[in-house]
Amino acid sequence: MTESNTGSSNNNCSVPEIFGCRVFNDRVMKARLPKNIYKALRRTMDDGEPLTLDVANVVANAMKDWAVENGCTHFTHWFQPLTGVTAEKHDSFIEPDGKGEIIMNFSGKSLVKGEPDASSFPSGGLRATFEARGYTAWDPTSYAFIKEGSLCIPTAFCGYNGEALDKKTPLLRSMDEISRSAVRILRLFGNTASRKVICNVGPEQEYFLVDKEVFKKREDLILTGRTLFGAPPPKGQELDDHYFGSIKQRVAEYMKDLDEELWKLGILAKTKHNEAAPAQHELAPIFCEANVSTDCNQLTMELMKKVASRHGMVCLLHEKPFEGINGSGKHDNWSLSTDDGINLFDPGKTPRDNAQFLLFLAAVIKGVDEYQDMLRLSAASAANDHRLGAAEAPPAIISIFLGDELMAVLDSIENGTIYKDEGKTLMDIGSSVIPQFTRDTTDRNRTSPFAFTGNKFEFRSIGSNFSVATPNTYLNTIVSEELDQFADILEAADDFDKALSELVKKTITEHKRILFDGNGYDEAWVREAERRGLCNLRTTPDAIPVLIAPKNIELFTKHGVYSEIEMHSRYEIKLEKYCKVINIEALTMIDMVNKYVVPAVVSYEGALLSTLEKKKALLPNSSSLLEEKILEEYTELSGRLYTQLRALENAENECAKVSEMLERTYAYRDKVVSAMNELRATVDRLEQMTGKNYWTLPTYSDMIYSIQE
Ligand code: ADP
Ligand code: MG
Repeated sequence: MTESNTGSSNNNCSVPEIFGCRVFNDRVMKARLPKNIYKALRRTMDDGEPLTLDVANVVANAMKDWAVENGCTHFTHWFQPLTGVTAEKHDSFIEPDGKGEIIMNFSGKSLVKGEPDASSFPSGGLRATFEARGYTAWDPTSYAFIKEGSLCIPTAFCGYNGEALDKKTPLLRSMDEISRSAVRILRLFGNTASRKVICNVGPEQEYFLVDKEVFKKREDLILTGRTLFGAPPPKGQELDDHYFGSIKQRVAEYMKDLDEELWKLGILAKTKHNEAAPAQHELAPIFCEANVSTDCNQLTMELMKKVASRHGMVCLLHEKPFEGINGSGKHDNWSLSTDDGINLFDPGKTPRDNAQFLLFLAAVIKGVDEYQDMLRLSAASAANDHRLGAAEAPPAIISIFLGDELMAVLDSIENGTIYKDEGKTLMDIGSSVIPQFTRDTTDRNRTSPFAFTGNKFEFRSIGSNFSVATPNTYLNTIVSEELDQFADILEAADDFDKALSELVKKTITEHKRILFDGNGYDEAWVREAERRGLCNLRTTPDAIPVLIAPKNIELFTKHGVYSEIEMHSRYEIKLEKYCKVINIEALTMIDMVNKYVVPAVVSYEGALLSTLEKKKALLPNSSSLLEEKILEEYTELSGRLYTQLRALENAENECAKVSEMLERTYAYRDKVVSAMNELRATVDRLEQMTGKNYWTLPTYSDMIYSIQE
């Protein structure tokens, strides 16, 4: 393969030809590795067999040759530390040959393990910063790929004692767990063929595009990813004319370029369309195994930004770039299937399959109910707080939507009645057949945070900027726990069918409070959820402590997904991150008021005042002068601006003094965020009253309609 087929986009690319051309995938491995090495590597990839150094050396050398032929000079261990973005440190392949020349070299040791200076990555006290050593370990199940002249090796990132310092390691552990416990259940149903159960994930990714020139003039977008000010535009999204609307030329070119870049990296970019808000779009890939899907989604986000820059635009992945306009989420489509292709959330066609489906469904219902707090936490961040609970995204209360048909089936099981569906009669589990659920019957509720959509669940609370690693780690572990509990009961039962029937019925009866088909945005739901005893963790500081709740520590340690220390460290990191984000926003706001808002206000006031003085001199007896009236109101506002600015500065200083971290998050939320909201209201009113030539910051209209052709 030559550089030309991995090069930048051409107009008439053949998709099958470019697909995966930057990936060291199975085809390349087969072509470039000796047969025995290829087989050994596949055993590591498929069955988790340990890799010997001999094999690693041969693989590394083949990777290096392939990468160099494709224009690479460097390699990097690519990983996902707890910062939320991916990290990479590039080393070149060069090595002195001892005779003044160099050779290009890449050893098995360098492939398998790296030791980045990890001292600046968050570890939540896990690793004192002076003890910088952490290491990256190759995840051979996720293919190596080429990005900007570097061979990227997907890796897990650990501390020296094996403690996870990344999001990927726990995900991989949880995938093993869900596989183990799901296979236990399958064996009970007589399935001896399936060897493992795979967790599939398809993340739908929302984003905004704005023109780069406009972006550059907004310090808040640059520093915080969202607008901290901005009066509502005369036209927002009320006409719903953007959703699925025809795509503008410039955006279409961007999407095409992005698709090609993603395809080259073997990413299954499939669907693209305009979203509800102006300037908002969505990209969805075809689902794949959770760890690969996580890597692909991280790469997708990175490329979305890079490709946008080439097109003179900026891609915003913040959950709420613009107030009053829909924010961006990431729908995490999650399902379980066997290695031989059986989707465990597919109701199936035989009574036996139906019963198995109902058992897996019951496990999800019970798990989501018992660990709703963890799922809420998995979607918590300062940025996503602007979204969850607002009238656009799912509420902060976790509930499950199943659709009418499935709800009716569960009702009949609970009540021991016969379920009738237009002539088809369904009786007790095991004796009749549940209908296939089509998307039409299951996907009507867009307000639900966790919806069954035919043969998968769609977790909709997650924000656009999130890695899907953690939500799926939680889901897998939770469901694995429930499946284990079920397996314990069923393995011990004398009469399997009877025990199964009772188990499903009992689970539905005990956990039906988590099922909700109504409007999740409705205030009435908040009261109803409270009555049902569901938790409503409104903000991130409310949610973070669940990470160290004893029941949750017990769950994750039991399944070996997180150690107690790892959970505590993540707790610390989340607290710190929340405070830092709000702190940066507050400081940016103060800076922008001083640098942009005050000068605009002063000069506009000056203009009003000088005209007013001239008018008064010329027409001493006239009353109701426009300038005078405006000045009165304006002066009132500018005075308030000063008071609120100082109030924010004070609140900010007070918070920084709170030493206990959880207390500090509450202080930032209750004091700083509210001071910011008050200041914003005044600035936005001033913006509305100030002449365009005086207001130097791009307005909401300037930003959300910045791409016109
Ligand atoms: P939507 O109406 O929510 O946009 P789509 O049919 O476009 O629904 O699917 C969204 C995502 O769900 C895609 O990434 C798709 O690949 C993924 N998906 C479909 N089936 C499954 C499954 N069984 N498991 C996991 N993800 C799936
Ligand atoms: Mg969706």
